[in-house]
Amino acid sequence: MTTLETRPATEDLGMPSTTPPLKVGRLVDQFERGLDAPICLTWELTYACNLACVHCLSSSGKRDPRELSTEQCKAIIDELQRMQVFYVNIGGGEPTVRPDFWELVDYATDHQVGVKFSTNGLRIDEQVAQRLAASDYVDVQISLDGATAEVNDAVRGPGSFDMAVRALENLKNAGFTDAKISVVVTRHNVSQLDEFKALADGFGATLRITRLRPSGRGADVWDDLHPLPEQQRELYDWLVAHGDRVLTGDSFFHLSAFGEAGGSLPGLNLCGAGRVVCLIDPVGDVYACPFAIHENFLAGNVTTGGGFQEIWQNSELFTDLREPQSAGACSSCAHFDACRGGCMAAKFFTGLPLDGPDPECVQGYGEELLAGERTMPTANKDHSRGVPLTLMTRPPSRDCDENPLAGFTP
Ligand code: SF4
Ligand code: SF4
Repeated sequence: MTTLETRPATEDLGMPSTTPPLKVGRLVDQFERGLDAPICLTWELTYACNLACVHCLSSSGKRDPRELSTEQCKAIIDELQRMQVFYVNIGGGEPTVRPDFWELVDYATDHQVGVKFSTNGLRIDEQVAQRLAASDYVDVQISLDGATAEVNDAVRGPGSFDMAVRALENLKNAGFTDAKISVVVTRHNVSQLDEFKALADGFGATLRITRLRPSGRGADVWDDLHPLPEQQRELYDWLVAHGDRVLTGDSFFHLSAFGEAGGSLPGLNLCGAGRVVCLIDPVGDVYACPFAIHENFLAGNVTTGGGFQEIWQNSELFTDLREPQSAGACSSCAHFDACRGGCMAAKFFTGLPLDGPDPECVQGYGEELLAGERTMPTANKDHSRGVPLTLMTRPPSRDCDENPLAGFTP
């Protein structure tokens, strides 16, 4: 494992803008072998959520009674401080519904662990916005999946567009600079990229766009929502034109195969699962990546044994993921150096081999495989509240698909 002596170019992973500049070189080589501490640690604090987005990667809705207590969360923060984890991405569920949310944010920043939290905007009222504007170590990411209420609310639920925009207005009015607007790119909003950018510019915010992965409830809607092949090209061209001013994390490196001579897009051009990326879920389970919530990618639980540090540095799963991976069927592809076979989680949850092409392979190999025989893994966790989750743009095929009480007249 490698110790990184300076902070990496984490801005493209959605980190706070206070991150010092990049030390250039073959950082990717260091990343492949893993680091002493993750640079992109996502921590989902709760499964509770006021919304029920159709593509929720953690299948959130109801709180899990086993969720970590305040004291357990503080012990994790102490450990992150000892490991010199500079910042943590807090999410959920909707993390701000935890009664101890602000206490934990303050505890983290008081212990040199910066916080970026993702929210649907529920609790970002004028008072909270002022409090956030007064902190140098807290960054806010507002989720929005349509540049119009019609497109957004079809995926995130009625009223969610207005709620997000109100939060952005409150942040702007409070003088909070450089909030993030986080967009999951779908076939219904890919044509709105310019509008998203204009929206972000209007709020003095930065646009972050991410890939729709077939994880959690996303597996149920991926076929209907993931961008079509011609839209993948449209997205690539847009990123080439605007990518230096938007954040993308590791979302679109599979699209780098569109480029001439293996040209890469900005961002992390590597699957960082278990190498530089991982997830702590609300009950303390540690997974290789926020999009790989499945027992196959479970490395341990922070409440047992040597805690998070032991899992990160020595777990069998993460040690394996840091070994050179087989390119399999992609090894003969001329674009492999740029694309690296794409996203492990996207392959896994669509039932494709991990050492083969990404389901959205720009050479079309993924589509061929998707049309063939495959076995989809079963999701091992679902925290939905039992409400019927259906894309609102899709007409109901049967009454009971829309309403579980259809046919029962009180
Ligand atoms: S599995 Fe996919 S989403 Fe997870 S780190 Fe790898 S490329 Fe990123
Ligand atoms: S065949 Fe594999 S390496 Fe080539 S573009 Fe497709 S996913 Fe990427």
